[in-house]
Amino acid sequence: MSTPDDVRATPSTDPAGPGDRVGPLGAAVPAAYRPAADEVPGVPGERRRQPTEEKSRRKRRLEYPPAPEPLAVPVVDNHTHLDFRDGLVTVDVHQAMDAAAAVGVAGAVQVGCDVESARFTLAAIEAEPRLLGAVAIHPNDAARLAERGHLDAALEQIEQMAAHPRVRAVGETGLDYYRTGPEGVGAQQEAFRWHLDLAHRLGKAVQIHDRDAHDDVVRILLDTPDLPEKVVFHCFSGDASLARTCNEHGWHMSFAGPVTFAANDDLRAALAEAREDLVLVETDAPFLTPHPHRGQPNAPYLVPLTVRRMAEVRGVEVDALSAAVAANTRRVYGEF
Ligand SMILES: [Zn+2]
Ligand SMILES: [Zn+2]
Repeated sequence: MSTPDDVRATPSTDPAGPGDRVGPLGAAVPAAYRPAADEVPGVPGERRRQPTEEKSRRKRRLEYPPAPEPLAVPVVDNHTHLDFRDGLVTVDVHQAMDAAAAVGVAGAVQVGCDVESARFTLAAIEAEPRLLGAVAIHPNDAARLAERGHLDAALEQIEQMAAHPRVRAVGETGLDYYRTGPEGVGAQQEAFRWHLDLAHRLGKAVQIHDRDAHDDVVRILLDTPDLPEKVVFHCFSGDASLARTCNEHGWHMSFAGPVTFAANDDLRAALAEAREDLVLVETDAPFLTPHPHRGQPNAPYLVPLTVRRMAEVRGVEVDALSAAVAANTRRVYGEF
């Protein structure tokens, strides 16, 4: 994959000293997220978020947003992809967690969603104490790998890596009927059941990716005899009715940037309905950047924007919601 022209050609005329790139509230972009004049614009083949909007193909703004006001009570971003590059900078895992810690995001769960990304995850959690890991084959990759006869070998490697003591979840697994057509449904469902069984055998949480597949995800969870004790719907995208189902079964709902988007009243109704002891927060960075920076790159340091909107929706103080989310995160993933 070659580097898109608009990335390579972006001028870097700003020497970006501390305090430059000031945001609307006077806050600066964290230092590690400001492009330097001699920034190398990536390497061929790396994982990278597209520099255009997915649907409209419009060019995105590739600058990272300014740091939000810090949370007084720290929380954890329970789903992020630090191996996906975005914007004009390369940020290592320590810099990412330093910027997060500075705004009250004390840690993150780094998610490896194929074999290569799972290897990155293991290296990251060994190098950085503020990270825990999750590993799996993403449902879209499961369908692709199955088609080529490579799925079983990949799952075998995931199983080995999932045993690492600081990998605390199997994920993201689940169903994605948005990107994968009907021909991939069988492979996705089979891989989903395999991952549920793995998480149960290892006594770890499972992180579910559910895109346009709520009914089948719930059906499979309900007909699985030995579910993992901790079930997390990552980037929860259901309505109030799915939230009630999750409440009933004690399944966790992790909310990401979309809960801040103007159009998503159904999602906010779900959040309002969710049991307090089941609510989690995540970025799914570099994707799903919260309002008002939608379309720009996302990173764990932007979690406070989502937490504040969530507190508003639930009609509670930000500190109270942060404390509940932090306690829920500890119950699901354990101590760092
Ligand atoms: Zn996902
Ligand atoms: Zn993800």
